[in-house]
Amino acid sequence: MARSTQDYLKEVDEVSAHNYHPLPVVLSKGEGCWVWDVEGKKYLDMLSAYSAVNQGHRHPKMIKALKDQADRITLTSRAFHNDQMGPFLAKLCEMTGYRRALPMNTGAEGVETAVKAARRWGYVKKGIGEDKAEIIVCSDNFHGRTVTIVSFSTEPLYRDGFGPMTPGFKVIPFGDADALERAITKNTCAFLVEPIQCEAGVKIPPDGYLKRVREITKRHNILFMADEIQTGLGRTGRMFACDHEGVHPDAMILGKALGGGVYPVSAFVADDDVMDVFVPGNHGSTFGGNPLGAAAGIAALGILIDEKVPERAHEMGTYIMNELAKTGSDSVGEIRGRGLIIGVEIKASVSKARPFCEKLMQEGILAKETHDQVIRICPPLIIDKETADWALARIRKVLSR
Ligand SMILES: *Cc1c(COP(=O)(O)O)cnc(C)c1O
Repeated sequence: MARSTQDYLKEVDEVSAHNYHPLPVVLSKGEGCWVWDVEGKKYLDMLSAYSAVNQGHRHPKMIKALKDQADRITLTSRAFHNDQMGPFLAKLCEMTGYRRALPMNTGAEGVETAVKAARRWGYVKKGIGEDKAEIIVCSDNFHGRTVTIVSFSTEPLYRDGFGPMTPGFKVIPFGDADALERAITKNTCAFLVEPIQCEAGVKIPPDGYLKRVREITKRHNILFMADEIQTGLGRTGRMFACDHEGVHPDAMILGKALGGGVYPVSAFVADDDVMDVFVPGNHGSTFGGNPLGAAAGIAALGILIDEKVPERAHEMGTYIMNELAKTGSDSVGEIRGRGLIIGVEIKASVSKARPFCEKLMQEGILAKETHDQVIRICPPLIIDKETADWALARIRKVLSR
């Protein structure tokens, strides 16, 4: 007999660590913006694996690239060269405007790479005293889950019980350029920031913030490192969120959609002054730059350009935001977003966002709450107007109940 949703939920409850609280839906198929559960019910994906499936589920070019590469060679390690990594990194450098890229796998590894690069740059290039380097970060940041990264998180849930913490980080408020300038000391090597804080509930900094960050970091000779893992690769309606202010950081971290939803691929990108702090042996990853991931990366970047994905995200994001703003609902506080990263805040006096996400699921829309009060609306960037209208009708219905 076919197993039901309940069978799967019961099993996973028994054997999986409880480090997530997923909606009670068990997916077994995906295509484009849509996913299907084990009972055959169809849903619109409004989370896109936290922006890892910007290109849509199982984009034909992604699947072809993966299958073709799987038929040739999948893993070499970096002890040898492979014929996919160079072309992948060349394309990535061309698209980002940096001279060099260091491929890793998960976003957290990309951020760890940035932290290591910044510290070593501080010692080698800036002459900061041994073990004194400081990196400035923002409150409510999300950069991943390693011990070092949660060491500079301000969210107790991410940190509690995981100490001792890695020292060397200073936290300032997000969106406050003056606070950045005040926090800089002779030991500061870098400022690490998300151009939009997605996990914190789609927090958008004041206009001009990134420009001022660029100016301040340049004047004080510290690295400006943008974590574009979630905001980059089209999500905000430009290829990178920093493009909205015409800002070019000293380094960027990319991940998520870099693997086109089929493979974990991340990268740290920078120019020679930063990247040449790495020498053979002082950093690495067995899987980083592997041929399967690199082939996926080439296809993922190709789709973004060929299908004008950022432009589409801008167009559809503007449309969805405008339509949502017309929803006269007493439950809704602020609606904010840029491109197709949209947060709908549920008033704390009404309820948390979770019950709304559960109702959306019953209506055939999979969205996830973030930080209790915000429903995140983040479909794959290939969504068309017809699908958006289908979703808007259901979102309106749920919000107005
Ligand atoms: C998801 C995310 C990360 C971590 O990526 P993983 O692949 O989950 O390790 C880091 N920074 C930001 C902004 C993210 O959204």
